[in-house]
Amino acid sequence: MKILPNTWTSKTKLTQNLRDSFYKTRLWEKCRGAVLDRDGYLCQICMQQDEPTPANTVHHIIHLKDDPSKALDEDNLISVCYECHNDLHPEKGFGQSKSKAKSKRIKTFEVNSNPESFW
Ligand SMILES: [Zn+2]
Ligand SMILES: [Zn+2]
Repeated sequence: MKILPNTWTSKTKLTQNLRDSFYKTRLWEKCRGAVLDRDGYLCQICMQQDEPTPANTVHHIIHLKDDPSKALDEDNLISVCYECHNDLHPEKGFGQSKSKAKSKRIKTFEVNSNPESFW
């Protein structure tokens, strides 16, 4: 199957298969590299919180499936780290990474349901 992102419009229907193939094309590799270069290989979301983190993923701000015409549009692409990318895609069912720290368990005392056992 030929992947021709330059011919895609916002109405092009991209199957999961087509999207997977897109991410393997040279065109995407080149575009991805240009975006990482532009962003200094740093996660742009972490940067907003003054936490420079190496980026290893380039994310479509308007998701690829929502507007295929922006597949290679650098204005629609942002460098992010693995964690932030998971947060951007709650539909993938990850996104647990950042909430971990918040969910510190408060130790509760075991209330003995049978006080007579003390005696
Ligand atoms: Zn990040
Ligand atoms: Zn993404």
